[in-house]
Amino acid sequence: MTNRRLPDRVAVAGGGPAGLAAALWAARLGYEVFLFEKGARLGGQLHQLTLPLIDVPGFTGSAAELAHRLESQLTQWPITIYRSTSVVAYDIHTRRLVVDGHTDMEAAWLFYAPGLRTRRLKVPGAQEVVDYSVSDYLARKRDNPAVVVVGGGDRAAEAALRLAEAGLSVSLIHRGAVLSARPSYRARLAALSVPIFYHTVVRAILRQPTGYRVEVEGPFGSAAWDVDQVFIRIGMEPAIDDRLARLEGGVAVPAHPGISVIGDAALPSWQHSIVSAWASAMKTVKQWSRQ
Ligand SMILES: Cc1cc2nc3c(=O)[nH]c(=O)nc-3n(C[C@H](O)[C@H](O)[C@H](O)COP(=O)(O)OP(=O)(O)OC[C@H]3O[C@@H](n4cnc5c(N)ncnc54)[C@H](O)[C@@H]3O)c2cc1C
Repeated sequence: MTNRRLPDRVAVAGGGPAGLAAALWAARLGYEVFLFEKGARLGGQLHQLTLPLIDVPGFTGSAAELAHRLESQLTQWPITIYRSTSVVAYDIHTRRLVVDGHTDMEAAWLFYAPGLRTRRLKVPGAQEVVDYSVSDYLARKRDNPAVVVVGGGDRAAEAALRLAEAGLSVSLIHRGAVLSARPSYRARLAALSVPIFYHTVVRAILRQPTGYRVEVEGPFGSAAWDVDQVFIRIGMEPAIDDRLARLEGGVAVPAHPGISVIGDAALPSWQHSIVSAWASAMKTVKQWSRQ
């Protein structure tokens, strides 16, 4: 982008911490910014955090409050925000950005911050329960209090804890020998006597007139459990669209020139955090503007 005239227009796809930071940095560097968020609200995964934040230097409070503050900060800059709008393609040669729900528009570059989505469990019936939220479940009326959570990390443990604390009869199914969830979660699961089935895999999730039948296989042999709901929390993967990015060694890289991938999608899992998402956005936008 040598000899560029300011303000050039850049686009940011994704309104999570990385996309919000990229928009802020690009605006601060003098660009006109279009920010697109697929969902109805800005904040990305911040809306899935239920525990108070303890690891964002200089900030204590809820993640929802942080999302709100980030959004208010953006309104002080020349940043146009489109909600419920996905970026689906970008062509560096024509500089055309394709977004759903709007006509195409021009941008000098695309900063792509799509974040993560739940990893897919590849067994029959799993697609039907993918991304089912604990909050939605707790808000609805239930007949059978038995539910299962599949997974062994923080997200699985957090889901199991919320369900157990709401008085449900939760079982945790984990294919490994030990949970990778943080020690405080493991201690709370033990305190609540949540049964954990280790070395156990799900073979199928079959819809029943009410609830689901979960076919499992473990050290006890094969079994079929009738439960009200199944929550799959087996880790996350970059939420990429293959017209914009592809996976390389587990992280997302641009599908073609003209795009920079930032945030969780571009980082190895041990770096997934709000602060890393901000740093990745800042570094990428500043580096690009210096080219
Ligand atoms: C339960 C839980 C607890 C966590 N706890 C902590 C913690 O304590 N501390 C911490 O630092 N981090 C924590 N994290 C991680 C932190 O939330 C993430 O690292 C951070 O949100 C990553 O930001 P991101 O912008 O890369 O992605 P995301 O937050 O996932 O945001 C991506 C956004 O992009 C949108 N999008 C996707 N594709 C498109 C498209 N094509 N066009 C437009 N929009 C699109 C999505 O709708 C989403 O809103 C936690 C995460 C979870 C789920």
